[in-house]
Amino acid sequence: KGLKKYFDINGGVFGRKVGEVKAVDGVSFAVMEGEILGIVGESGCGKSTAGKSILRLMEPTEGEVRFEDRNITNLNPEEMRQLRRDMQIIFQDPYASLNPRHTVEKIINEPLLIHSELSSEQRKERVQELLEIVGLSAYHASRYPHQFSGGQRQRIGIARALANNPKLIICDEPVSALDVSVQSQILNLMEELRDEFNLTYVFIAHDLSVVKHISDRVGVMYLGRMVELTTKDKLYDEPKHPYTQALLSAVPSPDPDVPRDRVILKGDVPSPANPPAGCAFHTRCPQAMDICKQVRPQFEEIEDNHFVACHLYGDVQ
Ligand code: SF4
Ligand code: MG
Repeated sequence: KGLKKYFDINGGVFGRKVGEVKAVDGVSFAVMEGEILGIVGESGCGKSTAGKSILRLMEPTEGEVRFEDRNITNLNPEEMRQLRRDMQIIFQDPYASLNPRHTVEKIINEPLLIHSELSSEQRKERVQELLEIVGLSAYHASRYPHQFSGGQRQRIGIARALANNPKLIICDEPVSALDVSVQSQILNLMEELRDEFNLTYVFIAHDLSVVKHISDRVGVMYLGRMVELTTKDKLYDEPKHPYTQALLSAVPSPDPDVPRDRVILKGDVPSPANPPAGCAFHTRCPQAMDICKQVRPQFEEIEDNHFVACHLYGDVQ
């Protein structure tokens, strides 16, 4: 609720603060139990920062994170440590997030050692079980990360995240570094795991095609703000925000006889250190109006379960 994460820019004489990057600038949304919520946007839009702030791997500058009706924003480190069992993260680059000097056994055992009360024999069994759950054989336990392909490494990352039966997993571009053929295998696995273990995912991706199959709802972020959030069907069939429309026009149409009109956006994403006033998208929006340069559009529910931040739909016209 109202989540903000600003980073100081230090510089100048004496390394004083000379500005700030508003990486996440007032984002509010809810994730339902058992849901897969996709969050999409170009790099630098704040989606990963939002994900990490939810888990308090980064401290939010402002706003509130609630988990199962409990405000977790002010929990002390010990309370947060207990909660970490329930909230996990899977990273984009499994190679960077797996210690190359540790065997797979040690990597998956680590969260069990920290959070569970299992004996060492039980932990060993649990590691083998987890490897099988993610489609790897138990004999892989004694190997090292470099002995696996990218897809297998991501399976190891998933096994580690699942170790303590979490409820929520933040998936930060888990398939972006993988070959397209491997991507769908991992996505299918994640979907099966969600069903089997009643998991809830926030699934972060930089393009709309990746989250299309897996998501129940999808949110689109631009320059630290959520600009549209609705069910998958509404987002892909009737996108309202001009930015979503542009992103979607780049996704190949499912029906080749009905090609999409490609919307080419002018210019690059502005710097989050110096975002445009008003609607942050106005410098690139094909439908920008005068008001867009001055007034920031509110993120409003314009129809049932369809939130948009755009003056084309708000009360102010
Ligand atoms: Fe475009 Fe204006 Fe809507 Fe922003 S508020 S997306 S500039 S029409
Ligand atoms: Mg990222």
